[in-house]
Amino acid sequence: MGRVTLKQNLLLQLGQALSPSAQGLLRQVASLAESRGWQVYLVGGAVRDLLLGIDLKQDLDLTVEGPPLEGLPPAIALAQALHQQDPTSRLQVYREFQTATLAWHQPTPLALDLTTARRESYPYPAANPQVEPSTLALDLYRRDFTINALAICLTSPHPGELIDLHGGLEDLHNHVIRALHPGSFIEDPTRIYRGVRFSCRLGFAITVTDQSLMRQASQFYRQLLHRAGPGSRPPGLGSRLGMELECLLTMTTNRQWLAALNQLAQLGALACIHPDLIWSTSLQRQLRLANRCALPPWPGRLEVILAQLATTARAEAALALHLPQESLRHLEDLAAAEAQLVNHLGSWLTPSQAVVLFKGWSRSVLHLVTLRNPGPVRRWVWNYLTIWSQTPPPLTGQDLLELGYQPGPQFREILEVLLGATLDGEVQGRTEAISFVRSHFPPPKP
Ligand code: ATP
Repeated sequence: MGRVTLKQNLLLQLGQALSPSAQGLLRQVASLAESRGWQVYLVGGAVRDLLLGIDLKQDLDLTVEGPPLEGLPPAIALAQALHQQDPTSRLQVYREFQTATLAWHQPTPLALDLTTARRESYPYPAANPQVEPSTLALDLYRRDFTINALAICLTSPHPGELIDLHGGLEDLHNHVIRALHPGSFIEDPTRIYRGVRFSCRLGFAITVTDQSLMRQASQFYRQLLHRAGPGSRPPGLGSRLGMELECLLTMTTNRQWLAALNQLAQLGALACIHPDLIWSTSLQRQLRLANRCALPPWPGRLEVILAQLATTARAEAALALHLPQESLRHLEDLAAAEAQLVNHLGSWLTPSQAVVLFKGWSRSVLHLVTLRNPGPVRRWVWNYLTIWSQTPPPLTGQDLLELGYQPGPQFREILEVLLGATLDGEVQGRTEAISFVRSHFPPPKP
């Protein structure tokens, strides 16, 4: 196995990067594994980030190599043993995948994802992989990129040793993203999105070969989606892609996620979301504008993207990507809201009439409408969202009581009519408001 000895001991470096509690846990894991004759490795993003000198995330991926114990896969048996030693942890076991997760909230949030070393095979493109227990070498080979296929051994006889079977260290030094084999993106198109995300986040370049492989895979999936009817998307183009999109669209800076989308568009990979999706200048403008309004990064940004599609395609993609119910509703309401608002705003409306019209739609739907409809519609809806819907009536229920009105459904009507008159500029200030109410709603006789 291609073990690489670094000048620095990685255990020391790891110790410095981890909290004392995380260090203690890894020592405990290593000792439990050693006493059972297993090897444990830190793998994935934590190794990559450690070597890059980036702060480590709070979840660490561990791979356990060894034979089952009393029929239990080693990752599960190890997680259970650790949980017994520390019952404050929250244990979740995924028997089918031979993995387990342990999570702590105290003293600082931390999660360990323990996986039994495994190889994966894909029964068809973009399928969920079939897994079988295996060696660390094959476990590393199933990964997405060389920089994510590095491991640090935590157990004897080589604790602290870096295992680099695919040139990941060199690619880290050269700031390069490279897949492990040419079939990688056909196997799993979410890797195109992951590659672009890492490229934008770390400032790394995707190799020219991989860019071409990504283009070919995108083209393959464009055709596949054209042929496949609604609802027959494989998971790599459905829920798993949805999860990758969430990671990408919530990347920290606007520059990063917009650059990532742009790169995906250049590679033709937006077709994996829906083959009809076009990276138009209008969509790019809408996404930049979306930053300025209160649309949440997730799933708001994806709603803006899907809204570009025709109504049926929009619903089909949203469902396949497992968007939350609320988002499905926003996208469903959008067509009706747009038709109603665009039609009505063709004729002249007072602000109070506009408020009555807009009140029927959720703010998220109205945000989508403003983004998509520049000109008068945007101005009206924007005024509603930022001013009219935020303006309170100049009098309160208490004021009405003091004016001699009886509490009841009429209160609401009075306040609504008063607010409308205020928005239309017919009433200004408290004194005018009181005379307006008295003249339009004669107070009951004492
Ligand atoms: P991040 O900092 O964005 O979380 P990460 O590399 O830790 O980066 P995870 O999604 O937590 O990302 O995945 C952990 C590891 O699992 C990856 O480093 C990679 O080795 C492997 N992996 C994740 N997704 C895939 C995939 N689709 N195909 C192959 N390997 C994957």
